[in-house]
Formats: sequence, C-alpha cells, structure tokens
Amino acid sequence: MLFKDFCEYLKLLEKTTERLRMVSILANLFREMSPEEIQKATYLLLGELYPDWMGLPELGVAEKMCLEALSRASGLSKTELEKLLKQTGDIGEAAERIAQRKKLTALITQQLTVSSVYDSLIKIAMATGPGSQDVKIRILTGLFLSASPIEARYIARIVLGTTRLGIQEMTILDGLAQAFFGTKEKRPVIEEAFNKYPDIGYIALITAKEGEGGLRKIKAQPGVPIRPMLAERLSDPKEILDKVGGEALAEYKYDGERAQIHKKNGKVVIFSRRLENITEQYPDVQKAILEAIQADSFIVEGEIVCVDPDTDELRPFQELMHRKRKYDIVRAMQEYPTKVFLFDCLFLDGQELLDKPYPERRKILESITKITDSVQLTKAKIVKSPADLEEFMMQAVEDGCEGIIVKSIRSDAVYEAGARGWRWIKYKRDYKSEMIDTIDLVVVGAFYGKGRRSGTYGALLCASYNPEQDVFETVCKVGSGFTDTQLAELPKIFAPYVTKQKPPNLHVSEAMEPDVWIYPRIVMEVLGAEITLSPVHTCGKDLIKKNFNKEAGLAVRFPRFINWRLDKGPTDATTTKEIYEMYLQQLKKVQT
Ligand code: AMP
Repeated sequence: MLFKDFCEYLKLLEKTTERLRMVSILANLFREMSPEEIQKATYLLLGELYPDWMGLPELGVAEKMCLEALSRASGLSKTELEKLLKQTGDIGEAAERIAQRKKLTALITQQLTVSSVYDSLIKIAMATGPGSQDVKIRILTGLFLSASPIEARYIARIVLGTTRLGIQEMTILDGLAQAFFGTKEKRPVIEEAFNKYPDIGYIALITAKEGEGGLRKIKAQPGVPIRPMLAERLSDPKEILDKVGGEALAEYKYDGERAQIHKKNGKVVIFSRRLENITEQYPDVQKAILEAIQADSFIVEGEIVCVDPDTDELRPFQELMHRKRKYDIVRAMQEYPTKVFLFDCLFLDGQELLDKPYPERRKILESITKITDSVQLTKAKIVKSPADLEEFMMQAVEDGCEGIIVKSIRSDAVYEAGARGWRWIKYKRDYKSEMIDTIDLVVVGAFYGKGRRSGTYGALLCASYNPEQDVFETVCKVGSGFTDTQLAELPKIFAPYVTKQKPPNLHVSEAMEPDVWIYPRIVMEVLGAEITLSPVHTCGKDLIKKNFNKEAGLAVRFPRFINWRLDKGPTDATTTKEIYEMYLQQLKKVQT
C-alpha cells in the first residue's frame, strides 16, 4: 500500500470519534493490505515500531532533529521553521505546510509505501552510539524529500510520537475481527491469542495469514510476557465467598510491584504488569530466582516487595520507586532490599499451564520453588466462612499487607490472561474505614492555578477507563494532596501530553471545559471520601441511566492525590465498572 493512501486513512481516523466507525475504517484499511503490511501498519497506528517488551531501541528522534531534517529537505532556515512551528503549534502541520510551500513533491522520484516508511523508521531506531544522530537525521531527511504534504505531516508526527489517533489495542483487534471474520463478535478469538502473545503486529499477521486455526495454535512461551490476570473487588466477605463457590484460597495482598518472571536459556527476565522489561531494576530478584527455582524454563508470577533492611518488615509500594533509577542500582539494592512473593506458575519446561485450575498451578509452583530468605510463596489459607476470611484479613493487615486476594479453587479456575474476572477478588483494608478505596485515574485535562498556584496547574481533570467502549470518562477534578514541589512540577510532567483538542477517546460533558486537554497517558492514585451522582462527569453515565433511570454520571467527592502510578498505563486505570460497583457497595452500606 502506498504510504499516502495509509495517510488518508490516518486522517479519516483522526476525525472519527465514534468507535464503531473507527473499527469499520480499520477493517477497510486491513482489507486493502497484505498481511505483512498489516503487521507494520498496526504498530504505526499505535505509534510504536514493535512491542515495548522486546526491549528494542526506540526511534530516539527529538523535535530539534526533526526540524533539522525538515530544514535540510526544504532549504528553509531553522529560525523560519521554528517560527512556523510556533504558529501551527503542531510539528505535523508545520511539516505539511513546508512540503506544500516548497513543492517537494515535484522532486519525488520514488513513491513511499507503508513498508518502505516502516523500514526506514526501523533504521532510524537502530542507529545508536556515536554518529547515530547524523544517521537518523539523514534517513529522516530522505523521507521528507520523498514525502507529499500529507505524508510529511504524518511522518513528522510518527517520529515524534504525537500521532494521537486515540486508538488502543482492543480497537485494532475489533478491526481485525471485522476484516477477516466478518464480525467483531469474533474478537475474543483474536484477543485470547493476543493475551498470551501481546505483539499486536504478530497477531495481526497471523489473523490475516492463517485465520482462526493459526490463532488457536499460539501458545505462551518464556521470553514473551503474558497479559496479567486481574482481580475484581468486593467489600463484603459473604458476597466474596458466594461468588467463588463458598470455599476459596485467600492470600495476602502484598503492596509491591507485580512481576512476571521468565527463565529461558539460563537467563531470567522480569516483566512488569504493563509488560515492560524491568529486569535491570531487580538484579537481586534475578539472582534469587535462579537460586530458588532450578527448572530450565518457566514463567512464574509474584509480587516484588520492598523490605526494611534492619527489621525485615514489609515497606509500602512507594519505596520501590527508588529502584526505578537507571544508575547506582547497587546502592539502591542495599538501601531498598526486596523480597518476592510468588503466587502462580504459568509455564513449566515446555508446557503452558494457563488452562490448569489454580490449585494445580500452585502445587506445581510449590514443587519447583525452594523457599529462601528472598523468594517466598504468598501466605495463603483455605477459607470456608466469612469469619475465616475476616480473620485472615486482619492478620494480613497486621503483617503489613493492604488486604487479601480471594482466589477460586474450583475446577474452572483457569488463568484468565488479560482479564479482570471473578476468579480473583480483592478485599482491601480501606473498605473498613469511612473512606473509599484508592483508585487509579488517568489525567485528561488541567485547570490553571490562581494566587499561590499561578504559573502551575490548580487542578487536574481525571478519568476512569471504560474497556467495553475503549474510552476514558471523567470522574473528578483533583487539586489537593500535592506537595509544593509536586505542584510546581505539574506543567513539566504534562507538557509532552498537552493537546489543543479534546483527546479523541475521551467522553466529556459540555459543561466540562478544562484550560488544557491532556492526552491520556499518566495515571495517579487518588483517595476520595465517597462516590456521588454528578451532572458534569461522564463516568458510568450509561449504567446510571440503565439501572437508575437518571441522567447523571459518577463523581469522586473530595479527591486527594496520593501518588503517581508510573507502573500503570492509561488502560490500567480503575475501570468505570469498578467505580460503579463501588457506588453500589456504598449505597448498600448506607441502607444497612
Ligand atoms: P490492584 O492493583 O488493586 O488491582 O490489585 C491487584 C494486584 O495485587 C495484582 O496485580 C498484584 O500486583 C497484586 N498482588 C499482591 N498480592 C497478590 C496475590 N497474592 N495474588 C495476586 N496478586 C497479588
């Protein structure tokens, strides 16, 4: 496919806010491409070249380099270009205008294709080390020289990561289902393969080339992260037990970082909940796992927790942030030592275990793990009554955990990769107090501060994620809980994500108009006092309409910033459904 035709699709997608329409545009696009082109196009649609977890170099093109390439391609001076960029406020638009003005098209000898552009971008990414900047600029200049105005616009946006189509992976999977199976109802078949092998391009390639048969053959394997299974939440022990069939394995819920630990060819690799390769942050865990588990190849899951070096007590999640630094990890390991508490085994010596019931997986985990000081299993207990569950919960909190996770032990308790289901239910301490549980919200807008806060933001507009519709829905404005330093840093933190237009996949009511829109990227933990109905927020509007017949959304009252959740991506934010469930729980509490 010619790159210019692909750009027309991008333009169309950019203008589309309705998800169903987006899906059918994507389906049309995929129908016009070869499987190999689809693979490359899916990455570009997401603004990446390959999945993050592969740990391959990123494009590494800064705005300055892009301007340099545009200047070399057009003959315009950098001052002129900077002026144009200021006027347009968008590098894509600036590049488009330059291409129009300079009639670069007249020089075109070779037409760009999706494949040739993608391959050039790979070359740009792979240029590393001394002299690489110049190589990157040269390749980019070549691209601009061959680009028509619309192509220049998208090349500039792609290299700087500002495409912002508002398309998430699930929308692409819907598009693939519609293109190759005729209906988006077939998405689960593709999604299941994607959950085990989260490489959107590869999944697209197999869907287009081999169809359902090929997808069903895809298996989990060490080295490729599995999308993690997630827990639902409830606040009533009896209800929890009813949901899982009266009897379950309750486990401590450790307050640390989820780790999926793989071993292959003698090497240990650790993936985060967001599937990033975090091995380098935890050389201690790597070593400890090699000592504790002798098997040749495996995938186990656990929670890495910070412990006090003097008392061995568990420390809160925030302290793990010290391990995020790039340098001096040796010192960080001494000051912030960790333990890992394992709870699952998903693959062992050539065999995928996802379809085995949890008790069987846990038994396998127990059989391969030698308990050491730093590698342990999550503390667990069979519970058969609400009283058992309450008692275990108290003990967990006493031991420094944030609550418990109750896991089904029935024969259908498979590992549901990528899904939040009722086979795992979290029961957290905060439900015991008047306050609601903390939630993780995505920042989607900001309001300028006044008085003491002038020059920075006074409040951030926050949203929940609605996976059914793949949209973000606003739920509150957060202005308190920040320290002065944190406040001062807000504009800098959000600068890369500020956009002139409302982000495309954000549901917002007309009454809500922040001073700046922010592309959904950064997640923060928020604590509120209660959930109320609100005329200005859009969270759960459909659910409230359907079940209460009221025109209102849900809002968090008195929200307070607790912390950044850099380990979470926008789609890992608390879901609209979770907030709705919390609202129902709260109503129940008021009635009893
Ligand atoms: P949340 O992040 O609040 O949705 O809670 C789910 C998270 O709890 C998981 O993603 C794990 O990181 C963490 N966790 C802590 N202890 C356990 C456990 N015993 N089993 C499963 N997950 C656990």
